[in-house]
Amino acid sequence: MSNVVVIGAGVMGLASAYQALLEGYEVDILEASAEPGGMAGHFDFGGISIERFYHFVCRTDRPTFQLMSDLGIADKLRWVPTTMGFFTQGELRHWGDPISLLSLPGVSLISKLRYGFFILACTCRDHWHALENQSAREWITRYCGKDIYDQFWHPLLDFKYYEYANNISAAWIWTRIRRIGRSRKNILQEELGYIDGGSKTLVDALLHAIDQRGGRLHLDAPVRRVVTENGRVTGVATAARHFPANAVISTVPIPLVPGMVPDLPPEWKARYQAIHSIGVICVILKLKRSISPHFWINISEDGMEIPGIIEFSNLRNVGDNAIVYVPYYMPVTNAKFSWPDERLREEAFSCLQRINPTLKQDDILDVKVARLRHGQPVCEPGFAAKIPPIQTTIRGLQIADTCYYYPEDRGIAESVRMGRNMALSVRNFNA
Ligand SMILES: Cc1cc2nc3c(=O)[nH]c(=O)nc-3n(C[C@H](O)[C@H](O)[C@H](O)COP(=O)(O)OP(=O)(O)OC[C@H]3O[C@@H](n4cnc5c(N)ncnc54)[C@H](O)[C@@H]3O)c2cc1C
Repeated sequence: MSNVVVIGAGVMGLASAYQALLEGYEVDILEASAEPGGMAGHFDFGGISIERFYHFVCRTDRPTFQLMSDLGIADKLRWVPTTMGFFTQGELRHWGDPISLLSLPGVSLISKLRYGFFILACTCRDHWHALENQSAREWITRYCGKDIYDQFWHPLLDFKYYEYANNISAAWIWTRIRRIGRSRKNILQEELGYIDGGSKTLVDALLHAIDQRGGRLHLDAPVRRVVTENGRVTGVATAARHFPANAVISTVPIPLVPGMVPDLPPEWKARYQAIHSIGVICVILKLKRSISPHFWINISEDGMEIPGIIEFSNLRNVGDNAIVYVPYYMPVTNAKFSWPDERLREEAFSCLQRINPTLKQDDILDVKVARLRHGQPVCEPGFAAKIPPIQTTIRGLQIADTCYYYPEDRGIAESVRMGRNMALSVRNFNA
């Protein structure tokens, strides 16, 4: 029987390991951290098990639904009517439907109508190749006007991508608009989902299914090197041991690949090195009371250096308290990425107070800060052509991460789909 080693116990790695076991392979999963789950991992927030990074489900996340059904946890999906807000010019407004768009101040009626049609067209559209070589900035400005770009999109992109902000792929932005646009009950009502118990429910069910089929999970086992011989993979080395393998599936962030696979040809390493990512920090606050009725608030306001906030408890009921995520995305070279937790916590809370001035220090019950160095790939125009093939020049070695499902944004559903497909491909080169 062939031995498959999966590197990374995030959702992609676990979905891939599960599928490989179904295909009849022996499977070892090697994970660098002490906990499985990767970006979808949880922590204990004073008795509430919650994601380190906010997670919601959309109506189009079919690979997640299929996997949940296979694992016998389809009944754990919950759907909630949600609303979006927009904090701009010192005021919190309703956002995300035609009426709120028409009442936005400082933007001409023509621009509002253009923007409304643009969102509708993005939601209905299925093809992306015509967008592939355009930047989001050119594309949105051309279709919606400069005032919409400046007031809405410019701050969102700036406080996520910083020096990369003017060069983000239009195709990638389109899939984000479409995913949310298609998760609606009707034109006036957004509807998002969550998994009862959080992403952990899915991760635990995968772990259980893997364990039952004889798969082995090794935690605290960062991979040092993928070992090859005569152009084919033979195993994987951690500090403690060598795992023989006929096939290796790597799901770790692409920037880590060249160091982990020294036998790749230089031109392949260069292709991986040309893919950049930004980091993310989430300041997560447990509060005595709610900030607003909205799940998501977009922000375009002088002096607020965040693209938005997520009041998670307006999606998933987590008891009497409010849970709010304040996300800070940025290149890890930005000095702010190294700010101590306390300084981030203060800034995050001051942002919340600007949105809801009645909020007081003693409304804070607890705060946690979660950091991730490779939180989001940077997908510039023409990104599709930059992605190296999944099957590498080393026979038996497949490599992918969240940028491989471009133009889709990172998401659990796409990681599930990608992980399963990689496991199914093992048979193609393992004969
Ligand atoms: C802030 C944020 C918000 C998000 N919101 C949503 C959302 O609302 N809905 C949604 O569907 N998705 C969301 N996502 C995306 C979703 O979490 C990811 O798409 C998905 O979890 C990625 O899984 P993965 O297995 O592909 O990658 P990862 O989770 O990154 O897994 C890679 C694993 O490899 C491990 N690893 C790294 N180096 C090594 C090594 N040398 N040896 C062994 N292991 C190693 C890592 O520790 C990690 O566990 C969000 C992500 C973030 C960061």
